[in-house]
Amino acid sequence: MGIFSRFFNKRAAKQPAPIKNTVPEEKKTIRKAFGVYCHGHHSTSGKALCPKCNALLMTAMTKIQRCPYGITKPLCHICETPCFGQKQTVEFRKIMKGSRKGMFFRHPMMFIKQKLKEWGFAYMKQKQGQKK
Ligand SMILES: [Zn+2]
Repeated sequence: MGIFSRFFNKRAAKQPAPIKNTVPEEKKTIRKAFGVYCHGHHSTSGKALCPKCNALLMTAMTKIQRCPYGITKPLCHICETPCFGQKQTVEFRKIMKGSRKGMFFRHPMMFIKQKLKEWGFAYMKQKQGQKK
């Protein structure tokens, strides 16, 4: 029995904590937010975005794929190391902020999930700050 329990303990210790891939969900949320913002501000409709928003969305999607944080990435719009470049990050944040109201009414579940994540990250940051 000794060998078995040791074997199992070793295996249990090796199991990494489950990591949730947050990338697909964030991509979906960002797409929706861009849609809401662009429809409201640039009078587009349906799945179409204006060329400017579309270009920024494409950049964001590519960058997320190469995020240095990997699949446990924080939310792009509150990230401390934004990788879109200064000008595009400002634009990106403007769109994410400007789409909030629309997201709340049109995609309340997504809005709430996003909010919870924001609070989660704020809490984590605060905790990390206390440790130092
Ligand atoms: Zn637009």
